[in-house]
Amino acid sequence: MTSVTDLVFSQDPAQRLRLKAWWFATCCYGAYAGLAFAQVSLGLSPLVPTVWLAVTVLLTSAAFYVALRSGWNLRVKRDPALSLGQLVVGMLYFYWMYALAGLAAGAVIIITASHIAYSMFGMSVAQVRRLVLISLFNLGLTILLCTWLAPERFPWREQVVTYLYACIVVPLIARLATQVASLHERLRSQRSELKVALAKVQELAIWDDLTQVHNRRHLMEQMQTEFRKLARKPAPLCVALLDIDLFKSVNDRYGHAAGDEALRRFAASAKAIVRNTDLLGRWGGEEFMVMFPDTPIPQAEVALQRLRDHLSRLELNDIAAGLKITFSAGLVEVVTTDTLEAAIERADQAMYRAKTGGRNRTMLE
Ligand code: GH3
Ligand code: MG
Ligand code: MG
Repeated sequence: MTSVTDLVFSQDPAQRLRLKAWWFATCCYGAYAGLAFAQVSLGLSPLVPTVWLAVTVLLTSAAFYVALRSGWNLRVKRDPALSLGQLVVGMLYFYWMYALAGLAAGAVIIITASHIAYSMFGMSVAQVRRLVLISLFNLGLTILLCTWLAPERFPWREQVVTYLYACIVVPLIARLATQVASLHERLRSQRSELKVALAKVQELAIWDDLTQVHNRRHLMEQMQTEFRKLARKPAPLCVALLDIDLFKSVNDRYGHAAGDEALRRFAASAKAIVRNTDLLGRWGGEEFMVMFPDTPIPQAEVALQRLRDHLSRLELNDIAAGLKITFSAGLVEVVTTDTLEAAIERADQAMYRAKTGGRNRTMLE
């Protein structure tokens, strides 16, 4: 069931954050409106233009809410929070409010500071600097217009002093804001670096670096999962242990680098032969393991034979002239009473018999 909070804030976490920021800004505007009407009651501001300002704030804020709540904002790819738009209209309210405040105008300056402080989370350092310059320029322009058009409400001496104070305070707050913004940027780039590092760690945790097939740890985890599934719902499951024949002599004759390349080619061939649903991994050294879920032993045997045929045709002359690879395999079908360790042990024994029986063959248990 959709709760009231979901209705007001949306269920999408990113949209929720944007709407929360909107609510916060709107509450601030509410408080400023309260002050504006207090100025009216104190005889500092005229009533009608103040009502107009309040109505404008209400309507534009409602428009932003509709844009955010309906998801229209997501079309603005560069700024889905619509922060630039909200900032610009916020600044316009401020100049309007300044012009209404008359003798109390100096106090309204503090709103610029809050704008800049609020902008620092969504903006880059360069953007905050630009915002300061634009704010001070616009404030100067507003003051100039006010003193020119209504000198009795905006005595020029007080206005000049107010502006000079603003020229000191606004950049000071901006300095703090840029420091926070650069900290924010640093955090963001560190987070993306961490993401890359984490992806690398996750890759290392399951893949074998040399052969680019799964490593032993991942094989064990996946096989344990498959064994647990088997306990709940019996299905044919085969495990094969493959050991490359006389691999030591490959290293001895052609060198370790050639041996490494031969291992890569063997793994690539096996990867190409087994199905996506089968699990292939390097068990260690020149030994590989294949798990065939939902596969009875004759089908698994056929797959191993396909790999054998493929290897017999495989050209490895680019590694070393005359190099050929064969393998011996032990293949077992898992029974429901099997533990993982027992099944692997049986596959190992069958593989040993394949070795003693002359190599380049598959022995079943
Ligand atoms: P068998 O047919 O009885 O399996 O003979 P084998 O020579 O393959 O068996 P043995 O266990 O005596 O030797 C395995 C060799 O595999 C020894 C080791 O140097 C080599 N080997 C293991 N891991 C790697 C590796 O990552 N790279 C290279 N180049 N060789 C490896
Ligand atoms: Mg071996
Ligand atoms: Mg071997």
